[in-house]
Amino acid sequence: MKKVIIIGGGPAGITAAKILLSSSDYSVSIFERDKRIGFMNELFPQWLRKRVEDASVFSTNAEQMQALGATVYGETEVLEVDHINKTVSARKATGEQFVEQYDSLILATGSRPSQFPVSGINLKGIHFVRLYENAKDCVEQFMTHHIKRVAIIGGNYIGVKLAEACRDIGCEVIVIDPGQLLASQYGRPFADRIEAVLRERGVEIKTGRLQRFIGNEGRVTHVVTSTGTHEVDFVMLNVGFYPVSSLCEHAARTERAAYRVTYDQLTTLPDVYAVGDCAAGYDPLVGDHISVFLSSEAVRSGTIAALHIMGKKIDFNYSQRARALKVGDLYVAAAGITTSEAKFRQIDINFSDISGRQFYPFMNLPDHEVLLRLIYRKNNRQLIGAQMLSKHDITEHIKYYAFAIQQGMTINELTFCDTFFAPHFNQAYNYHMLCALAAP
Ligand SMILES: Cc1cc2nc3c(=O)[nH]c(=O)nc-3n(C[C@H](O)[C@H](O)[C@H](O)COP(=O)(O)OP(=O)(O)OC[C@H]3O[C@@H](n4cnc5c(N)ncnc54)[C@H](O)[C@@H]3O)c2cc1C
Repeated sequence: MKKVIIIGGGPAGITAAKILLSSSDYSVSIFERDKRIGFMNELFPQWLRKRVEDASVFSTNAEQMQALGATVYGETEVLEVDHINKTVSARKATGEQFVEQYDSLILATGSRPSQFPVSGINLKGIHFVRLYENAKDCVEQFMTHHIKRVAIIGGNYIGVKLAEACRDIGCEVIVIDPGQLLASQYGRPFADRIEAVLRERGVEIKTGRLQRFIGNEGRVTHVVTSTGTHEVDFVMLNVGFYPVSSLCEHAARTERAAYRVTYDQLTTLPDVYAVGDCAAGYDPLVGDHISVFLSSEAVRSGTIAALHIMGKKIDFNYSQRARALKVGDLYVAAAGITTSEAKFRQIDINFSDISGRQFYPFMNLPDHEVLLRLIYRKNNRQLIGAQMLSKHDITEHIKYYAFAIQQGMTINELTFCDTFFAPHFNQAYNYHMLCALAAP
């Protein structure tokens, strides 16, 4: 029986463990620093709204994994990996240290919030939002204090979700970001529409760089940015994450310190895999190794590493970063890159925009505008990005574009893909076809 050690009980580590345990050829040990495994960050906004209870924010617990045959070391931190002798050294909460041998090792150590050395950061009422403890502390604070005005520093999709949740529980909310919210993930004009909906919902959006916090009697009272000072009584710091990769410093890492991995999730060390937020695979869309800080990628990469250990080689050419968001009554979805990312990475692109309708007017169905943008390389017309937005739930459509991007399709090939027609669902000349057809 082969021994696999997994460091980290987040979605990446848990997924790898479940797949390996489906075969009796592997014994699996999971090492997790925290008390519990299987925390789902995605449920933090729902937890704030009190739509879920503490226990529901865990997808899996230790007992379930033990029932599948895993050995779970909770509250046990791995201190060192010896990749030459193939051992890990760990310390339990009791202080007891021990060493375990592996045949294959999966690093699933995730990411941590970036440190923020600004004045006043240690005032009460300022919280990070990355880990279970962060989420728990925030929820407890909302339950025990009368919090009226919340500042969210960092306006990516997590900041937007948290802003909405705080509005839903009756707080005044201000989102502070150095640039436009969600510009890198959804691009303009999609980001403009998202901002408009947030403003309609009463969220203030301020452009500015965080400079310091001011407090009174140890508790935060103001946020000072490059453009103004804002009165607040609670702050959520959503200022970016960095991969946790200090255990294997001999493995090749990217500039942002993620383990560089092959498409099989192998690091540069023998029999050592890295999965989830701590890994960076080669993204052919941008020509670089990048980390994809998404649970969908954590689950996929955990699956790939486990299958590779089991001797099953699968075809994979990295993530298309498919993503979706609901803001107010607006659905937004994207795959691949945006025009702003293309500009940042100096990729020469063209794009085609369309504003269409879902149904024919004579159908008398409740209908809304659908915005679609397709982005493709200028030189060979290869599709590399798609963004959609509507009050219809169009989010499932993005899978079609993620697949086309994965397969390296050109915008010309996409034009005549069969997108079917039936009047209860769409139009014969629908926006998918028309957008591709209109591509300059
Ligand atoms: C508020 C919020 C909302 C999000 N919403 C979405 C969403 O809607 N969709 C989506 O796809 N993604 C979402 N994400 C991102 C997603 O949560 C992460 O990409 C995902 O958790 C990464 O999984 P992971 O297993 O790689 O790492 P993690 O979840 O970070 O797990 C890593 C684990 O390793 C443990 N560990 C680290 N070092 C050691 C050590 N030395 N010894 C023992 N244990 C160790 C840690 O304690 C941790 O439990 C969201 C994130 C946040 C913060």
